[in-house]
Amino acid sequence: MNNPSGNFPHHNLLSDIVEEVKICRHLLHQNPATCYEEFYASDLIAQKLEEWGIEHERGWAGTGIVATIEGQRNSFGRRIGFRGDMDALDITEESGADWASLCPGKMHACGHDGHMSMLLGTAKFLAQTRDFDGIVHLFFQPAEEGGGGAIRMIEQGLFEKYPVEQVYAVHNWPYVPRGLVGIKPGPIMANSDYIFIKLRGKGGHAAMPHECVDPVVAAAHVIASVQSLVSRRLDPLSAAVISITNVAAGTGAVNIIPGEVEMKGTVRTLDDRVRDFIAGELELIIRSTAQAHGCTAEFEYQRKYEATINHTQNAKFCADIARELFGESQIMTDFPPSMGGEDFGAMLKQRPGCYAIFGQAEPQDPASPYNHGLHHPKYDFNDAIIPDVIRYFSAIAQRALPL
Ligand SMILES: [Zn+2]
Ligand SMILES: [Zn+2]
Repeated sequence: MNNPSGNFPHHNLLSDIVEEVKICRHLLHQNPATCYEEFYASDLIAQKLEEWGIEHERGWAGTGIVATIEGQRNSFGRRIGFRGDMDALDITEESGADWASLCPGKMHACGHDGHMSMLLGTAKFLAQTRDFDGIVHLFFQPAEEGGGGAIRMIEQGLFEKYPVEQVYAVHNWPYVPRGLVGIKPGPIMANSDYIFIKLRGKGGHAAMPHECVDPVVAAAHVIASVQSLVSRRLDPLSAAVISITNVAAGTGAVNIIPGEVEMKGTVRTLDDRVRDFIAGELELIIRSTAQAHGCTAEFEYQRKYEATINHTQNAKFCADIARELFGESQIMTDFPPSMGGEDFGAMLKQRPGCYAIFGQAEPQDPASPYNHGLHHPKYDFNDAIIPDVIRYFSAIAQRALPL
């Protein structure tokens, strides 16, 4: 990235920290764990914080940790927070990296190893410089990938015990080149919900459908009808995705009409009114389509993650900082929202803040592992963005809590 070191007063300190946390990143990558089982990461983070003399509290949502750094002054007791997620995915790694996963079937394919390391680096950098007036908390959060670790930490009283005024986070983004930073006000990640459908008919001989009530045909109609909900019922300018991702029926025998079909899927929306509309209409379509085919339907709509909605003022504040650090041309304020889910949205519902995207692709090298999409078995986190994010987080702390 295009950041001349000459006007950055802590260049050497930052370089040393980056080298140290890169080693942590590779260890974390080698030892991935999913959904509240991030024991290795939790131990490593605690050990580093201990070594650097940084106050911290373990046990948040199990493996989570909150680190606390007080500035040179603490005149008003003001606090801000930074969050980094800790969990990996159930994927068998194919990156071929020297630090590839040592745990079969588990992999840091979303770069949360990088997020933890950048937060660790920020912790050390802020603890050594302390050029802010107030308190910075670093939230190391487990179980982002579907486990709702952010929600669990909030339910355990995170913001009562650590009453931050603002909260910030980043995600690496292999879909745009390294150097570009996406910071936009409003929605950046979607409401992410789960749907569960069970259609019941009457099983029997496949050659005698008139003696049965075939739930497979009903399921086929349900799958097609729910797609028309987005294409025909919703304003084309309202973003929504409905994906039926699992369909289970039958025993393997080709001559039996099964008695029931189970389906699962996900719904993504950016707007709560669209979310409510889809939840209601889905139920109607599923029940009436099932009924039209003589079946009964069970339907559950599970609201999983809130949309991640950046607060306008905080997004502007972060974009101004990023512009100063990296240059005007590197900042994308019209970055299109992703329909991916992110439990940081729950934190932004409680506190103002901003979630930024840091590009990590290396387009001049088409074979680079940093160009593979998130959750891809060949993906790897790009260590080259570590210093940029440490500088970005540190600058937020300095500006939000000025001396
Ligand atoms: Zn992910
Ligand atoms: Zn992620």
